[in-house]
Amino acid sequence: MDIILLGPPGAGKGTQAKMMIEKWRIPQVSTGDILRAAVRDGTQLGLEAKSFMDKGELVPDSVVIGIIEARIKEPDAVGGFILDGFPRTIVQAEALEKILADNGRKIDHVISIEVDDEELVTRLTGRRMCKSCGESYHMVFNQPSVENVCDACGGELYQRDDDKEETIRQRLEVYHEQTSPLIEYYRERGGLREVDGTGNISDIFTQIAANLAGTA
Ligand code: AMP
Repeated sequence: MDIILLGPPGAGKGTQAKMMIEKWRIPQVSTGDILRAAVRDGTQLGLEAKSFMDKGELVPDSVVIGIIEARIKEPDAVGGFILDGFPRTIVQAEALEKILADNGRKIDHVISIEVDDEELVTRLTGRRMCKSCGESYHMVFNQPSVENVCDACGGELYQRDDDKEETIRQRLEVYHEQTSPLIEYYRERGGLREVDGTGNISDIFTQIAANLAGTA
């Protein structure tokens, strides 16, 4: 199953992807996670990406398309994947279609998780991530048992540089300009499912699962 999770930053794509991995045993492929790891490791890719990420802008299409092309050919992704944060532009979506077709594959499901901007700002400004395993928390709505310590692995929590309010507003603007046209793009191609991303995390997961099973 090749699945795309669409949605603005903070919609819960990463959280839902992690729950989906458990159920469908296919990997989450997050361009944001891959780029952050490259920044942390100080690689050429990281150096190139960092200035765009810090400003809340998109990393150039050619860079992220190259990342995805390599990643989805890895053995664990041969049976399917959950794309989280890719594609983010029409150019990326078209490139993805071609890469998959060249490998005898196609996108099976596109799930669009919808949340309004003010809710996203509240979510993202309070978000904290684990440095070690990437688990996410919220200072008000989803606190860890021990302050600043990850429940899952004991790692230290931190605030992403791009989760500061000014950068969040910029990321949302970029989302509306460059990424949200993908909703129409996939609607026209069929197979788009829209899911309300507000409310209980497990209820949202239930909606996604029903959509993937064709019972929604
Ligand atoms: P995310 O973790 O998905 O919110 O991504 C964090 C940042 O990484 C974004 O604000 C972009 O700067 C960059 N990024 C992640 N995925 C993409 C993509 N598909 N295209 C361009 N930039 C991306």
